[in-house]
Amino acid sequence: MNPFEAPPPENPTLSLLLDTIRARRPQADLTMVKLAYEFAHDAHEGQVRKSGVPYIIHPLCTAITLAEMNMDPTVIIAGLLHDVPEDTEITIEDVEKNFGKDVAHLVAGVTKLGKIKYRGIERYIENLRKMFVAMAEDIRVVIIKFADRLHNLHTLDHLAPKKQYRIALETLEIYAPIANRLGMGDMKGQLEDMSFKYVFPKEYAWTRGLVEERYEKKEAYINEICGVLEKELTATGIKFRSVHGRLKRLYSLYLKLLKHDKNIEKINDLVALRVIVDDISDCYATLGIIHKLWRPLPGRIKDYIAQPKPNGYQSLHTSVFCEQGQIVEFQIRDHQQHLNAEYGIAAHWAYDETDSSDSSRQIKWVRELAAVGDAMSRLKDLENLKIDIFQNRIFVFTPKGDVIDLPENATPVDFAFAVHTQIGNQCAGSRVNDRIVSLDQPLKSGDVIEIIVDKSKKGPSADWIKFVKTNHAKSCIKQFSKRSITDWLKMALPNRGN
Ligand code: MN
Repeated sequence: MNPFEAPPPENPTLSLLLDTIRARRPQADLTMVKLAYEFAHDAHEGQVRKSGVPYIIHPLCTAITLAEMNMDPTVIIAGLLHDVPEDTEITIEDVEKNFGKDVAHLVAGVTKLGKIKYRGIERYIENLRKMFVAMAEDIRVVIIKFADRLHNLHTLDHLAPKKQYRIALETLEIYAPIANRLGMGDMKGQLEDMSFKYVFPKEYAWTRGLVEERYEKKEAYINEICGVLEKELTATGIKFRSVHGRLKRLYSLYLKLLKHDKNIEKINDLVALRVIVDDISDCYATLGIIHKLWRPLPGRIKDYIAQPKPNGYQSLHTSVFCEQGQIVEFQIRDHQQHLNAEYGIAAHWAYDETDSSDSSRQIKWVRELAAVGDAMSRLKDLENLKIDIFQNRIFVFTPKGDVIDLPENATPVDFAFAVHTQIGNQCAGSRVNDRIVSLDQPLKSGDVIEIIVDKSKKGPSADWIKFVKTNHAKSCIKQFSKRSITDWLKMALPNRGN
């Protein structure tokens, strides 16, 4: 059980990537992976990361993470190429010509997502999460983006503190909750712990200190308990895949401490014991054996197999009075449930090798999600999400990358008023994706909009009312025309009233 962050490989190479794939997919044809590496290597030639290392190290580490998650070569190739269109002369069309439509589609998706930036504006959080998933369209894009972000977090020390904070906060507020919703427990945990350090440095140091103090003692103790249980399982004839300790993730421990008077003595699952068996009936048999060995705490038996958590998580949990009266939490699940708990939706992709046709890849992410677990509540939630996004709303960007949420067919004028009333009032023109467009042109999700402001302008044009879509813009325009009539009257009749 390794406690804290697992760092990226110290000296990543193409052969490490190939070995990582081969270990999980001995049959995979790696020709295209090698070509993609060469392609990315040449494209990024001469570029360095802020840390001073050659740029190629970053996409390579991203691809290795994807390989560790058992993603197929298409996803790994897209991981290698993910920064090529954004940072080099090479275009998406070039990627498509060399690596096909599917890879190009994934790379384009990752590039598009890269535009989204979260700047800590509270009211945008939920929109941003929704948009992140909606814009990705293909869940594999989200998975690549997670792997990309993970490596960026590992190299965050080389950036300016303000940027570190922004990226870490964005990870904590946007990426980690999405990973959680997708059932990707391992990814969520890594993203959170890596960001924790930068967003709450004092709290991080405090939590880590608490754990380090207790960790060594606990480790020896847990190993002893593992031994006792393994012996008993063997004697009973239950085949187990592994019995091991797992240390609670720092950020989730911190959140739990906040709920328990910051008293670590009240946390029973600082170190939990995980038992992985072959099938569900062995899960229940193992629970019985644990309860025969040690007395369970009342009210602490949780059957998440019969009643999975909303994100699909399945396991049996119990806490018992172990040797020397210490309380230990056990988590019991079968192999497939374990993969689902660690990789969530990615586990589904990883092991579904029978479906590799292009059309099956087009399956909507909502249906993919439904396949991971049977949690109906989650399915409903996501269907609402989909309807909400695709039927009514679009998400567009300011030139700085802030997200503005607008109704379908909204125009640059709606955008201008959504950003600020003053900008709406002085709006004189607009650029959409660097092209000048008329003020009544309908916007699309993902557009970057810049409003050209005329400071000498006193107010909005009355005829904008004919095409604006938001109530906010409408009422601003009406209000202004009303006010200007009054102003005009005042000017025309200066001695009226007082
Ligand atoms: Mn990247």
